Amino acid sequence: MTKIVNHWIGGKTAEGASGTYGPVTNPATGEVTTKVAFASVEEVDAAVAAAKEAFRTWGQSSLAQRTSILFKFRALLDAHRDEIAELITAEHGKVHSDALGEVARGLEIVDLACGINVQLKGELSTQVASRVDVASIRQPLGVVAGITPFNFPAMVPMWMFPLAIACGNTFVLKPSEKDPSASVRLAELLAEAGLPEGVFNVVHGDKVAVDRLLEHPDVKAVSFVGSTPIARYIHTTASANGKRVQALGGAKNHMLVLPDADLDAAADAAVSAAYGSAGERCMAISAVVAVGAIGDELVEKIRERAEKIKIGPGDDPTSEMGPLITATHRDKVASYVAGAADEGAEVVLDGTGYSVDGHENGHWIGISLLDKVPTTAKAYQDEIFGPVLCVLRADTYEEALDLINASPYGNGTAIFTRDGGAARRFQLEVEAGMVGVNVPIPVPVGYHSFGGWKDSLFGDHHIYGNDGTHFYTRGKVVTTRWPDPADAPSGVDLGFPRNH
Ligand code: NAD
Repeated sequence: MTKIVNHWIGGKTAEGASGTYGPVTNPATGEVTTKVAFASVEEVDAAVAAAKEAFRTWGQSSLAQRTSILFKFRALLDAHRDEIAELITAEHGKVHSDALGEVARGLEIVDLACGINVQLKGELSTQVASRVDVASIRQPLGVVAGITPFNFPAMVPMWMFPLAIACGNTFVLKPSEKDPSASVRLAELLAEAGLPEGVFNVVHGDKVAVDRLLEHPDVKAVSFVGSTPIARYIHTTASANGKRVQALGGAKNHMLVLPDADLDAAADAAVSAAYGSAGERCMAISAVVAVGAIGDELVEKIRERAEKIKIGPGDDPTSEMGPLITATHRDKVASYVAGAADEGAEVVLDGTGYSVDGHENGHWIGISLLDKVPTTAKAYQDEIFGPVLCVLRADTYEEALDLINASPYGNGTAIFTRDGGAARRFQLEVEAGMVGVNVPIPVPVGYHSFGGWKDSLFGDHHIYGNDGTHFYTRGKVVTTRWPDPADAPSGVDLGFPRNH
């Protein structure tokens, strides 16, 4: 029997009323296993109304109450790691160990939210003028929305809601319609932890649901993570509707390898970061820039390692890489490899046409490695979001840096070198939001913020960390004077108030 995933509104399951459902496929088998309800405008309105009602009390709740619920949620999440990872593997396709890693990185943000009392401490200046004190405080916004992509169905929502609700907001999540089950399980665990009804809501669906959130007058802020064209659209539309927006987009992450680097370590890192999660990570390394004479040796080391990757269903513990999310996406990824030679690249490994015995209908593609890729090739210019690594050659550090900085994307980047001076220069000169030095996937820990530059992020706040707290609160400054009875009468003074 086909499983049905429904909305979560006001602390309970809300069956889809629109009559529209989307299919959810197991990428390893190609079988439609689940129907997910698609929300109508009215259903989104019901979720926002529940969140608005809940904000009346949640917005006034004590920090002690919020953190005690978050600590309980953290314990439940910890206890249910495996179960959530299984839901992710069944709908996304990534291997179980990778899905567990995603849950662990989401949990880091819950850790951060458990300490929200420290982050929301505010500032107080006493005696700024005679008997005058000034306090800066931050307060919640109200109802905030999160719209998330398929590639991290548990982690990316957790980049958003733990901090948002810790700050006193209420939340409406519109997760990816391709792998919706994890978000509902998170909602159930939040309820079990004692989160009051309506503080966290989930509406599933497509553009209809998203557009309603973007225009709803009671939604005060929108956090989005997804592809660049949709991120740009979300930023433009939500901003035009007067909302605070952070919209994280796509990426093409470069790894620069200098001639002095440990080439074995660099090859290990390139293979792990390019092909992990079948390349469906916004922080995947998709372009290696080899500087100087090391190119051939580096490509050979990458090829040797990449060829050994075991591809198979995510629930098989021996699999290292699973299938792609849909057959359509798999075919698109394959088209970049098929066209690469005509565009001037050398095809070192061609993963197209790959299949896994017993799972012939899965969305499989093997490992592809393209060398000497010209910057004009579509395989270099586009975000492929699959297990395809492009290697480019540069004669000097400066040439490599210019190439990276010419990319319209600026999410993550890495340098591999033993030269501290070169690494320092790169940190300062590269145009990207997250930089790794001998670290291929520099996803910041929860207490630093995550975000790219250029077409990888629209808005001026990165996500989670201090930026997250700032995004989900607004500032208020209170100036207080308690005159002493002995003070001289103040009298009328039409001049602009001065501190003295
Ligand atoms: P996507 O942009 O297709 O979808 C993201 C969300 O937007 C989903 O919830 C989807 O339902 C909704 N959506 C899709 N089309 C829409 C439309 N026309 N109007 C309104 N809403 C729409 O992204 P995806 O394919 O789910 O995820 C992969 C993309 O996300 C990649 O580009 C990847 O780089 C990016 N991503 C970025 C980050 C980051 O931190 N920068 C993190 C993860 C993923």
